Amino acid sequence: MSKKVLISLHDVSPFHLKRIQKAERLLAQWGVTKISYLFIPDYHQNNLYLDEALLSGFNHWVRQKQENGGRAQIQVEWVLHGYFHLETGTKKKSKFLTAGEGEFLFLSPSDIDERVREGKRVFNDFFHCFPDMFVAPAWLFNEHLIPVLKKHRFCITEDHSFIYLLEKNKTLRVPVITWATRTPFRRYTSQVGCLLLSWWWGGRDLVRVAMHPFDFDHSSTIKSIEKVITDVLAKRKNILYNELQ
Ligand SMILES: [Zn+2]
Repeated sequence: MSKKVLISLHDVSPFHLKRIQKAERLLAQWGVTKISYLFIPDYHQNNLYLDEALLSGFNHWVRQKQENGGRAQIQVEWVLHGYFHLETGTKKKSKFLTAGEGEFLFLSPSDIDERVREGKRVFNDFFHCFPDMFVAPAWLFNEHLIPVLKKHRFCITEDHSFIYLLEKNKTLRVPVITWATRTPFRRYTSQVGCLLLSWWWGGRDLVRVAMHPFDFDHSSTIKSIEKVITDVLAKRKNILYNELQ
């Protein structure tokens, strides 16, 4: 099987733990063996990592995975995904386009540096290691992000169209299949659209499938994800981003 697929779950945080556990159960049933979890240090500035009940539930879940190691049903790669996942500026146009989640679109180089540095610190508190991959929320960022990521020795980042291998200065164009759930209309169009895209991109060597915790609140979206994932895994090898190095 020479064609490959990267599968990721965005917005992994204590806030979404129940949805993430549901997603994980279903993904294992559908045959997923490798996944990237995109971790948000402080989801929507709620300081959720300070909430004792949520924090201990999340920590327990993380520890279980680390203890299972190679025996775990799904092999996990942890990725740093912004810091707040929230735009803290006041640019109305971008808030309209991104639902206020284009956190890294308008930050200055020093603010980017501070959030990346702080993100690494919180990441290390949870996972006892430093991340080597960073994905900006909503896949949106400005020209200052990549130099900051290189300074902090990140190896990989991505946007909606490309994966950037930072150490090699190499850019790969890789299509992504992802669902929208914000309104019933978006839900319906993305369910149909994702099935069409997985067929349309069938000839590509590498594709990405990216899901979000809220996708798993809607049974029709879950059915569409199941169809795409099982189709894709029948034809492609499931790999992690660090296998692209
Ligand atoms: Zn996200």
